[in-house]
Amino acid sequence: MTGPRMRNIGIMAHIDAGKTTTTERILFYTGKSHRLGEVDDGEATMDWMEQEQDRGITITSAATSCFWKDTQINIIDTPGHVDFTAEVERSLRVLDGAIGIFCAVGGVEPQSETVWHQADRYGVPRIAYINKMDRIGADFFEVVKEIDTKLASTPLVVQLPLGRESEFNGIIDLVAMDEIHWDATSFGTEMVRAPIQEKYADIAREWREKLIDQISARSDEITHLFLEGKEIPVELLKKAIREEAIARTLLPVFCGASLRNMGVQLLLDGVVDYLPAPEELPPIPGHLAKNEEPTEVERSPDGDPLALVFKIQNDREAGPMCFVRVYSGSFKKGLAVYNISKKKRERINRILRMHSNRYEVMDSISAGDIAVVIGFKIAQTGDTIGSEGHQVLLERMTFPEPVISVAIEPKTLSDRDKLKSSLELLTQEDPTFFYREDEETGQLVISGMGELHLDVLVTRLLRDYKVEANIGKPQVTYRESVSKTVTHTEKYHRVLAGKENTAELTLKIEPLERGTGQRFESKVNSEKLPRELIDAVERGVKNAFSSGSMYGYPAFDIGVTLLDAVYNQSSSSALAFEAAASMGFDAACRKADPILLEPIMTVDVMAPKEFIGDVISHLSSRGGVISSLESRPTVEHIHATTPLANMFGYSTALRSMTQGRGTFAMEFSHFAKKNGSQ
Ligand code: GDP
Repeated sequence: MTGPRMRNIGIMAHIDAGKTTTTERILFYTGKSHRLGEVDDGEATMDWMEQEQDRGITITSAATSCFWKDTQINIIDTPGHVDFTAEVERSLRVLDGAIGIFCAVGGVEPQSETVWHQADRYGVPRIAYINKMDRIGADFFEVVKEIDTKLASTPLVVQLPLGRESEFNGIIDLVAMDEIHWDATSFGTEMVRAPIQEKYADIAREWREKLIDQISARSDEITHLFLEGKEIPVELLKKAIREEAIARTLLPVFCGASLRNMGVQLLLDGVVDYLPAPEELPPIPGHLAKNEEPTEVERSPDGDPLALVFKIQNDREAGPMCFVRVYSGSFKKGLAVYNISKKKRERINRILRMHSNRYEVMDSISAGDIAVVIGFKIAQTGDTIGSEGHQVLLERMTFPEPVISVAIEPKTLSDRDKLKSSLELLTQEDPTFFYREDEETGQLVISGMGELHLDVLVTRLLRDYKVEANIGKPQVTYRESVSKTVTHTEKYHRVLAGKENTAELTLKIEPLERGTGQRFESKVNSEKLPRELIDAVERGVKNAFSSGSMYGYPAFDIGVTLLDAVYNQSSSSALAFEAAASMGFDAACRKADPILLEPIMTVDVMAPKEFIGDVISHLSSRGGVISSLESRPTVEHIHATTPLANMFGYSTALRSMTQGRGTFAMEFSHFAKKNGSQ
């Protein structure tokens, strides 16, 4: 059975699990990539940017289309590194299914867990692929067990490896119940199916029964056939597996060794057999632009056009290349469309379908598809594009707050202009990246999600945009808060252009529970103070929130209540109340024992046993609190929390401590009071 004819998928993997190699093989076998580029030579087809090739990691979420049998597969690149949360989130938004790649030796590593749980949040159906079956220490069944325990997904083993490590030579297909071998001389293009050898008959029967057992729990038809000892048609079994996979009740597990050209074609069959087509998914939720009422849009090519801009890459010649996912209707070349988020008309000059090493010019794209639009001028990542007549906004993407920043000092005045326009382009591409001008020093400060994130951005500025600049050291972006409740009355009186401006208000400032953020509330009703002046107070307080009273960091976990206000009809103005609110807030905070909050990160480290003592004492010396320790046959897995400030340069330190064999994942957890900050 094959489902309808399109799949939008992502490939999720921990760094080094073999995502690049597998993607390369996919592009090779689907006939769009005619040359096998080994990643170790830095020639991978998907790795567009020079920088990615240097680092050997994939960080953009460009989409690539290929064809397998009669199905178009759009592969949306999904980074495995948590520093690129925004990239992960945005690719999860537009893909309909994913392949999770695991290393048969390393198993489920910390970063895979993080990305896996993000995909759970978005309800993305998946299949798993256990790669590197040929490596020393490969253990298929151990990884299956880890998928069960660590990822809380129920594995459904649909294949068994034939042999392991250097003996790995093929796969048993538990659905078709036969053996598959590949011909090494043709890069595995030749694939041979054969009856299962006698020596594997028992294990194949055992796992086939497990598979039928898991499936029959949900299919009466299969249960009957099984109980009567009748043959279960392959198509019926695939259909049942497909339903379970799409409902995410079972996770089909495949295996292979991409580098040895074994397993990849069957994985592609798995994408077609077990992952959903766009039109099979429930209607897409959004809300009406005019009144914000929730609504749903059918995924039909005949509906009003609706698409999401999920990625922008600036091309020197073509300008902004907007990657769009179309949910409904169709978009034609040369026509005007409406950017519903920006309330502006835009024009589609060209539509391109990206393949691994070339692009195809299209006249139109319709529901379900992914392509690049050229011609949009104001579109930003996350914008909804559609028709002016029926304005539906798709949910905006939300991204975590930036916790780390770095100062950039341009070398010359002309570099300064170049820097500013380059920063403008980068913010258009990446919504988790911010920049601001420091009023006192005149420096430009950029902030983002982590050290690696900023590192990548700075490299792009210096190399791609050719800006000459001095780069400061990465700094933690702290937050400011208060530790006690204070009531403060602010009287504002200024004569501006011969006119008196007055305002008087009483604010209560109180600390809120950690993680609450910022809150404003008014106890003054509109009879006492006109609505527009209450709004002015709120504006003033919110402005003051954005830079704290002590060090200029954003204020956090603070509640502000407007308790009282005195207003004079002839001299009070919105301007006066806004200013009084800002000044009152600052003054009150200074009296309320201000404190600094620092970002605390969860840190997951994996390292071979012999280094574990050093890793733990090093983490403790950096203020890390170890929350748990897990032992596995060859490695230990440490979970800890540590202030971000102590984690700069950790990857280098870990590498040298473990002879390059330790890996770690770090993610923002929460803000906590910085020691000695009062
Ligand atoms: P990525 O970081 O997930 O994109 O992983 P890569 O595809 O770059 O692979 C990481 C390393 O593992 C490279 O040195 C690959 O050559 C190697 N590799 C990938 N697949 C296999 C495999 O099936 N078997 C073995 N032995 N090595 C593999």
